[in-house]
Amino acid sequence: MARSIGQIEALIKQSATEAGFDLAGIAPARLGDSQELRFFSDWIAAGRAGEMAHLESRDGQGRLKRAALEHVAPWVRSVIVCALNYNTAHPRSTECHDSERGWVSRYAWGDADYHEVVMARLRQVEASLREEVGDSTIVTRCFVDTGPVVERVFAAYAGVGWIGKNTCLINQRTGSWLFLGVILTSLELAPDLPAPDRCGSCTRCLDACPTQAFVAARKLDATRCISYLTIEKRGAIPEELRQGIGNHVFGCDICQDVCPWNRKAPASLTPEFQPHLERFHPALAWLANLSDEDFRACFRASPIRRAKRSGLRRNAVVAMGNSGERRFAPLLQQLAQDSDPIVAEHAEWAIRKIDDL
Ligand code: SF4
Ligand code: SF4
Repeated sequence: MARSIGQIEALIKQSATEAGFDLAGIAPARLGDSQELRFFSDWIAAGRAGEMAHLESRDGQGRLKRAALEHVAPWVRSVIVCALNYNTAHPRSTECHDSERGWVSRYAWGDADYHEVVMARLRQVEASLREEVGDSTIVTRCFVDTGPVVERVFAAYAGVGWIGKNTCLINQRTGSWLFLGVILTSLELAPDLPAPDRCGSCTRCLDACPTQAFVAARKLDATRCISYLTIEKRGAIPEELRQGIGNHVFGCDICQDVCPWNRKAPASLTPEFQPHLERFHPALAWLANLSDEDFRACFRASPIRRAKRSGLRRNAVVAMGNSGERRFAPLLQQLAQDSDPIVAEHAEWAIRKIDDL
């Protein structure tokens, strides 16, 4: 017996739960003149994406692919959004003060590549959807980060959460430590109601950003953000931003750590997300001396690979300069002669920084 659309929607939510997702919702594919997607186009036009060229990819007519799903996938009628909590019962960056160690963003604490973890679960939901609908002509495509979709915008329209002033998707119950995955489908499903904005008059995230990366609420200048500077930026980090990076060696969670909606965020038991000390609070000297082999072996499946060995060593050197620890001076002198000119230049900066104290 053919299922009704209502039954299929219930089945999607149920199979998302069975696949291990914490949240799921359905958004319409066409968002019309959505304010959030307009924000995205304006953000790109203002050059706030820095060197993240993949966000600026365009179709044959020169239109931004991510500005409207119908530009690149006119067959899509609905977007199923699934969210997986990656918060673990471990400390916040503001609670760790070992000056000889750096800080890694929470999403990269696990050993696994989250794209694969989320994709495997999405495929499960996709398979049960296709099986239940029983119509081989329906089209479905799964994406985790890599598709022509601004996931958090569709997540907001799917009722999974609202886009906070820190630009993250926040759910009232689970907070903002969420990986998002989407299934685009040609099935016409009834969308969920968008979640209401619960930021209110709060500005904690905007006030706490150490590099003043927020131009305004929900408007991030990525070129000033520590996440961009320590992960995406190749070559030299602008000198005026190095101090604000503090001890961050890969990403930054400050604007999420201070968010009141994360105070009671539940902890995930997903084994792939459980960290060990050298993954979330690594020794700076160890990082700065990482060999090619060590880098490959330690971060084989980790999102940290994205920073590349050179970037990670550069970031560790900046964090040493910011630590104020004179005991790093001999190592920094050595690193100032490094065969990697970027590491060497940042080490010279770090020596000056420590000497100026
Ligand atoms: S991630 Fe860090 S640097 Fe980037 S906006 Fe948030 S607080 Fe600022
Ligand atoms: S810190 Fe406050 S303003 Fe920022 S995202 Fe959280 S609730 Fe919204």
